[in-house]
Amino acid sequence: MSSFAYRSGVLHAEEVDLRDLASTVGTPLYVYASAGFEKQYLDMTRVFADVPSLACYAMKANSNQAVVATLARLGAGMDVVSEGELRRARAVGVPPEKIVFSGVGKTQGEINYALDQDILCFNVESEPELEQISALASARGRVARISIRVNPDIDANTHAKISTGTYANKFGIPIEDAPRMYAKAAKLPGLSITGIDVHIGSQITDLAPFDAAAERLAALAVHLMGEGHRLEHLDFGGGLGVTYDPQSNSRPPEPQAYAQTILRHTRKLGLKLIFEHGRLIAANAGVLLTRVIHVKQGAGKTFVVVDAAMNDLIRPTLYEAYHHVVNVIEPAPDAPRETLDIVGPVCESGDYLAQKRTMALPRSGDLLAVLSAGAYGAVQASTYNSRLLVPEVLVKGNRFAVVRPRLSYEDLIGLDRLPDWLS
Ligand SMILES: *Cc1c(COP(=O)(O)O)cnc(C)c1O
Repeated sequence: MSSFAYRSGVLHAEEVDLRDLASTVGTPLYVYASAGFEKQYLDMTRVFADVPSLACYAMKANSNQAVVATLARLGAGMDVVSEGELRRARAVGVPPEKIVFSGVGKTQGEINYALDQDILCFNVESEPELEQISALASARGRVARISIRVNPDIDANTHAKISTGTYANKFGIPIEDAPRMYAKAAKLPGLSITGIDVHIGSQITDLAPFDAAAERLAALAVHLMGEGHRLEHLDFGGGLGVTYDPQSNSRPPEPQAYAQTILRHTRKLGLKLIFEHGRLIAANAGVLLTRVIHVKQGAGKTFVVVDAAMNDLIRPTLYEAYHHVVNVIEPAPDAPRETLDIVGPVCESGDYLAQKRTMALPRSGDLLAVLSAGAYGAVQASTYNSRLLVPEVLVKGNRFAVVRPRLSYEDLIGLDRLPDWLS
């Protein structure tokens, strides 16, 4: 059962009534269900239970420390893409030997911090970065464990903004170039080769791209080990998609099928497998709760104006993403339905949460829940239009905690400084 369900006609997060959260904390508001993160994490680790593996949650999907701590309690490692994420992981006690560091533009400061933390692995994205990590590690008298992120030139058939595994984008090094890069890494000081890394994209909803990537990565591993490199792990990145539209008939692959696809190519190698799923763990563990301000009848169109906006959840406009929206009070089955757009108050025509939805017409003051908002939601929120950064709540059973409070207007405008010539 989903962590968000109607109980006696009212949408709950686990056992907590969303109306109570809205009145206690106010809207807009992200609400996360601990059980949602936990179930997805456990489902994904269980299918690899009979091989050495480590699930490193991709923190960029949702890096609230309460979420990170929830997963860390279960033994999760972390995939970080910045010093800030690494600091968040360390702040809640994630052991450095479970942290991998990805990203095309790690700065010197970030590399030095990660070296001092002695993390499990740097996922190296280019030749200059390889040289830089070697130089910085040598200068500090440290050894950086590295894997090289290869780009297998596979089209993951996903949205252009989240496709990463073809030669048309900036990630990794072409797979043909990998043997030369590994030979070079083996000669550079301060480096210890430990693995190979790949991440082909996000919200991937069929197995074929994973199958092709696993096949190419396994072949590369065999080749590199033949050349005398000692590999310990293969990192498959993340990217497995989730269901955003519960009414659609197509479903992304189950963890079991995903595991079979990967293991078919890799089991014989006996290497440890690392995964960096983010969306899969977090997306359906969160909703964005919002209140209807007005219902506006336009010329032949109905707009439901709500208090959440693109600055709180940018996915609809950035990725043309679909988020299912439901009324917190379950509409009667025979309630008249209308086709409408759900829009926010921001002064942009890209400010919408849903378009052309057929649903029971909400009324001013109603609470709506934008579903599947646990990943790439709050982490991409901004204060655009000088709106207060959206708060977050984590539910556990019948309990809840505000895990990021709504900041005040003093916090918001107090960050600006007037130069001396204006004050
Ligand atoms: C974004 C990202 C992930 C997570 O992707 P999901 O689609 O959320 O699973 C994993 N690894 C790297 C390197 C990433 O950039």
